[in-house]
Amino acid sequence: MIYAANFKMNHTRNSTADYMEKLAKRMSEKSGGDRVMVFPPATALDSYTGDFTIGAQNAYPAVSGAYTGETGVLQLEEFGIKTLLIGHSERREIMGESQEAVAEKFQFFCSEGFEIVYCIGEPLEVREQGEEAVTAYLLAQFEGIDTRYKKLTVAYEPIWAIGTGRSATVEEISRTHKMLKSHVKCALLYGGSVKPENIQEIAAVDGVDGVLVGGASLEVESFMALVTAGKV
Ligand code: PEP
Repeated sequence: MIYAANFKMNHTRNSTADYMEKLAKRMSEKSGGDRVMVFPPATALDSYTGDFTIGAQNAYPAVSGAYTGETGVLQLEEFGIKTLLIGHSERREIMGESQEAVAEKFQFFCSEGFEIVYCIGEPLEVREQGEEAVTAYLLAQFEGIDTRYKKLTVAYEPIWAIGTGRSATVEEISRTHKMLKSHVKCALLYGGSVKPENIQEIAAVDGVDGVLVGGASLEVESFMALVTAGKV
């Protein structure tokens, strides 16, 4: 299992350092084959030591240059960061990142050899139209994306389940992951209100190779409750 923590715009540089120190001490509690990833905010990126991977939540598709307010490869590599989250629904919906922009970012960071956690997910109105509409919507989010890229992990995150406390049901996750697994061969994470109370049933679903967690990852205790409760 992969356990990925997305801090979003939470935590400071100080509180992230404190979190990483605590997390590093707890990594012996995870199962041997499991992997932990943490995506802190850009201001808290650093070369943290521990049995986990640090990734960036976002970056601009350039090494460096005249891109005010952005973070490029140069700034990430200073901290040895070679892992990037791309296509999170908050970036697509709030920051208005189009599929074209997301694909451009994907292609650039592939060419730089980055490991990519690529997020897809449908809004509620699409889910309410039924399975066929969900499939069409999700597959459209692979436009311009090389799903055979070796360092790719896909995260399926239904938008209506993110930060709402309402996770998708086990049946919904199972059906959607099965459909996605027939299109992509890489590891497939589920994200959307994963918490200590539902991790066991979600981790047990066939085709769930890990979870991407927002709210429940913000405290080490709660994130570790997920890491230690998931499937072995
Ligand atoms: C996320 O935004 O990636 C996420 C899954 O958030 P939450 O766990 O808070 O629903």
